[in-house]
Amino acid sequence: MVKKPKRRSKHVPRRTCVGCREVLSKRSMIRVVNGPEGVKVDITGKAHGRGAYLHDKRSCWLRGINGSLDHALRTRLTDQEKEDLRTFMENQLPEEELVQPGAEESSR
Ligand SMILES: [Zn+2]
Repeated sequence: MVKKPKRRSKHVPRRTCVGCREVLSKRSMIRVVNGPEGVKVDITGKAHGRGAYLHDKRSCWLRGINGSLDHALRTRLTDQEKEDLRTFMENQLPEEELVQPGAEESSR
């Protein structure tokens, strides 16, 4: 008799980042929700409304703010909402080291 492997009960929810389209576990994502009060960062992850996920990376947020969130949330972000998201990003997300093309060290 062959034992069937038990189906794993641990289900890891996966989400797509609307900034870069990478699919990752929910934990490394920040949820943005389009709720009754407009578009907001949903820190609890439980707010009602249509949600979209973004990495905790500034580049993904900028892409989201500049258009992909509009699409994902089926709305148009107001200037105020964009401003709020940008503020959140600046306060909460570490600055990324931007690798500039051509600035690589040529240590020979
Ligand atoms: Zn991303």
